[in-house]
Amino acid sequence: MNTWDVIVIGAGQAGSAAAWDLAAGGKRVLVLSRAAGAGKPCAGGVTMKTLNRYRFSIAPLVRETVDALHVSRFPRQESVLKAPNPFCVMTERSELDQYCLAQAQEQGAVFKLVRGIESVRQHQNGVAVTTREGDQFQARFLVAADGANSRVRHLLGERSWQGAMAIEGHIDRADLKDYPGMTLDFQAIKGGYGWLFPKEDHVNVGLYIWKHGLAATDRRALDQYCLDRLGVKPHRVSGFPLGTWLPQARLRQERILFAGDAAGCSEALLGEGIYGAVLSGQLAAQALLSGDLDNYRENLQDWREELIKVKQLSALFYGLLPISVPMLQGRLGTTLVADFSRGYTLGQCKRRWRGAPSLA
Ligand SMILES: Cc1cc2nc3c(=O)[nH]c(=O)nc-3n(C[C@H](O)[C@H](O)[C@H](O)COP(=O)(O)OP(=O)(O)OC[C@H]3O[C@@H](n4cnc5c(N)ncnc54)[C@H](O)[C@@H]3O)c2cc1C
Repeated sequence: MNTWDVIVIGAGQAGSAAAWDLAAGGKRVLVLSRAAGAGKPCAGGVTMKTLNRYRFSIAPLVRETVDALHVSRFPRQESVLKAPNPFCVMTERSELDQYCLAQAQEQGAVFKLVRGIESVRQHQNGVAVTTREGDQFQARFLVAADGANSRVRHLLGERSWQGAMAIEGHIDRADLKDYPGMTLDFQAIKGGYGWLFPKEDHVNVGLYIWKHGLAATDRRALDQYCLDRLGVKPHRVSGFPLGTWLPQARLRQERILFAGDAAGCSEALLGEGIYGAVLSGQLAAQALLSGDLDNYRENLQDWREELIKVKQLSALFYGLLPISVPMLQGRLGTTLVADFSRGYTLGQCKRRWRGAPSLA
């Protein structure tokens, strides 16, 4: 049986962030993942605050740098929020995952592609993992970073939650009359928005709803949005849930820490999940390196409190779109994108506006 200090399950943004820090901290780390970088549904928008958290530059992956956001209450009232500096970059998610995993491997993490996880068993001295191939691995601790449909949560009998939902597709640039800027079309779907994320040779299009069940995020709805918006149907369409249940979820079960969407670390308002994934992966690693697993919950407390408030804001924002979108299109929106370009989270922006000392 293979024995490691830490096994990380999932080579997405949370798993690779945890593996990088653990390996850099001298731990023997094994990453077990299904189809790493094979295209997890994700629009690949990476905000400034996330870029600030990576331990390395992702410059080679950047397809577009964004300093202007088009906002509408679809199909009316489009306006453009211009920031003094870029607040977001566009990447291809499969490239981003492959790159971040390669960075973790350079630090010394070992990667093994698996078909899935058959069992996870905790015992007095550690955790035993059996893959679907029947291989067995042993570690002192485990980080479960296997996404919103976490198999590990399921195997451990942890409660499952319903979060947000999104569906995405591609439209080739050659098929478009006009190449759009980064766009959020609120009200393109009930309880959410449609998006256009330009990426040089194509535009990533999608629909997001902040709470599961508010509307159907299916292929028909996405086709209709794209036809109305751009006159073309998308291809490469796929959807996936987002974990937004950090306020309710358990983060630890004895020797196992949950990170990323498996822990519900995505924010509900816009469905940004890469930041929470990288943050929680790094904080899980920090707790493991410190030898005190209780630190993890403490370290994530600020983010948890922020997500509670963002959920309340989401209910208000999407419940009152005729009021909230025009507000966003005014000074509030310009101030927001300016603060996002400085790398602040929504909560940090709010504290700044109140004059409280910034956490950034
Ligand atoms: C359509 C869509 C668009 C999005 N767009 C954006 C965006 O533009 N910007 C943004 O910030 N967020 C976006 N998000 C949210 C973001 O994609 C997620 O929050 C983020 O990917 C969570 O990262 P993670 O590492 O926790 O999980 P994941 O990215 O889901 O990674 C989980 C990893 O675990 C592996 N895995 C899963 N099950 C198993 C198993 N049984 N055994 C072994 N391995 C397993 C998977 O192969 C994967 O490598 C979007 C989400 C969706 C659905």
